[in-house]
Amino acid sequence: MDRLWAPWRLEYIQGPENDRCIFCVGEDTAEDQSRLVVARGEHSYVIMNRYPYSNGHMMISPYRHLSDSAELENHEILEIHQLMVLSQRVLREVCAAQGFNIGWNIGQASGAGIADHIHMHIVPRWVGDSNFMPILADTRVIPQHIEKTYSLLAKAFSEFSL
Ligand SMILES: [Zn+2]
Repeated sequence: MDRLWAPWRLEYIQGPENDRCIFCVGEDTAEDQSRLVVARGEHSYVIMNRYPYSNGHMMISPYRHLSDSAELENHEILEIHQLMVLSQRVLREVCAAQGFNIGWNIGQASGAGIADHIHMHIVPRWVGDSNFMPILADTRVIPQHIEKTYSLLAKAFSEFSL
């Protein structure tokens, strides 16, 4: 079994639909639930991965359509990292997460599935999870689980503050 840990590679499954950038969520919150946007900040937001590496796999992205983290401005850098810390608190509460893998893929060469709009991955981990977690490229989570997890995460985000 290949134990190289590379969940970001699963991202390609999510692929953009109809050429619309899935990370350009705009200001209208009407579609937040269907898009799995769980929390919004002023400059950035948190979205669930529809095909997660593990239950609770989320991504944090700036609203601006940027392909390079070097283009981020200080207020965006700060808020993305505040949301990262908040996400850890939420995942500890909701999923009893014991650890996290957090990372970026920047540029096509990095293996980013959607390189045009940068996003930070945050993946909750549990001691021993590699023994049973599916880490194959065809990992799927049934929609009911996604919706239930969405409700739990969105509720927790609304109760915590930065
Ligand atoms: Zn975009």
